[in-house]
Amino acid sequence: MTSARPHDGGMSETPSWLDGLVGNVRCAACGRLYARGDLKPVGQRDQHWFIRCTCGACGSQGIAVVMVQTAIEPPPAGRGAITVDDVLSAHELLRDYTGNVDGLFGAGSSRSR
Ligand SMILES: [Zn+2]
Repeated sequence: MTSARPHDGGMSETPSWLDGLVGNVRCAACGRLYARGDLKPVGQRDQHWFIRCTCGACGSQGIAVVMVQTAIEPPPAGRGAITVDDVLSAHELLRDYTGNVDGLFGAGSSRSR
């Protein structure tokens, strides 16, 4: 991790996905692509980030809402692969299970914290 970066206004922890927005988000007023320094995270709520966009060309400002989801990594090859036995037992479980799907996979998808 490099710490050599031009000053970017205070917020020390810049989300890495912000780089992915650069070159993809355009100013609604003049169509110019936002540069890295034009995008500044101003808030977060759950998976939603609020990014203040300031156009360097025309000066208009906007707020972009970005939904960030943590990628689920696939299990490494050769380990954690589903075996036939696992499938059969899951099948048994599903056949006998009378509750709803939410109960099967745990309540909700949000982290319990
Ligand atoms: Zn603009």
